Amino acid sequence: MPSLQHRLNQAELARRQWEHCLLCEHRCGANRASGERGPCHAGVEARVFRHRVECGEEPELVPSHLFYLSGCDLRCAFCIAEANAFDPSRGRVLTSEFLQRAIAWGKTQGARNLQWVGGEPTIHIPSILAALATCADLPTIVWKSDFYGAPVAFELLAGVVDVYVADFKFGNDECADRIARVENYCSVVTRNLKIAAEQSDLIVRHLLLPGHLDCCFRPIMEWLKTEMPNVKFSLRDGYQPRWQARRHSELAFPILRSEVEQARQLAGEAGLNVIA
Ligand code: SF4
Repeated sequence: MPSLQHRLNQAELARRQWEHCLLCEHRCGANRASGERGPCHAGVEARVFRHRVECGEEPELVPSHLFYLSGCDLRCAFCIAEANAFDPSRGRVLTSEFLQRAIAWGKTQGARNLQWVGGEPTIHIPSILAALATCADLPTIVWKSDFYGAPVAFELLAGVVDVYVADFKFGNDECADRIARVENYCSVVTRNLKIAAEQSDLIVRHLLLPGHLDCCFRPIMEWLKTEMPNVKFSLRDGYQPRWQARRHSELAFPILRSEVEQARQLAGEAGLNVIA
């Protein structure tokens, strides 16, 4: 577990982002403290729209106490958090007192770790670090992210996060731009995967999208095979059309069983370290 002093130092450094935010690769430089809003629309408060102990994550993580923060730097049309993901005014304010009480409750429910999810937690790093800095007895910290953060985000999380769970969503920039309205996606995510692997334990997730086996799954698989052949790879196969997915014809239906079987076979043939 990171020392209290380390967490206090990181929290202090993170506060500087309020005046000129460069936490994610939009790098908009918004002065969030004065009310300016970047593409994520976040201010200085992080809000929790749900927290509960869940068993749907990778086997080595469950039961996991998930903290869902509203607001995100991506705009994925198929987001299962729907409006909560994109409106950072939703939920209750994350405070030290709330976090301490919630962590104590999570332990009574058998949680093995505390997992920050979204929306996207990266846009709220200063608030999260400030709240964590007050907690004396922290569980293992898991950080589930879209991995669109800027390098400074990972510098601030170094020594605080024990396990990164990276959502590698798209295998090419065109799909990322069309479906999640984000630029330079692949180079950012692959850079961040290498940073995270140096820092902490890492799980790479990919949610199989209908009709995206060739354009997204295969390039991701090939990149991992070449660059990170031993990384833990979690293949998520429960896609359902949520939020605004029907705006994209290929995303309007659940994933086919045949696509899932083909992807799992390809991942196995590639020798990936598939953990789920
Ligand atoms: S998190 Fe990203 S989008 Fe949001 S204010 Fe910071 S740099 Fe801009």
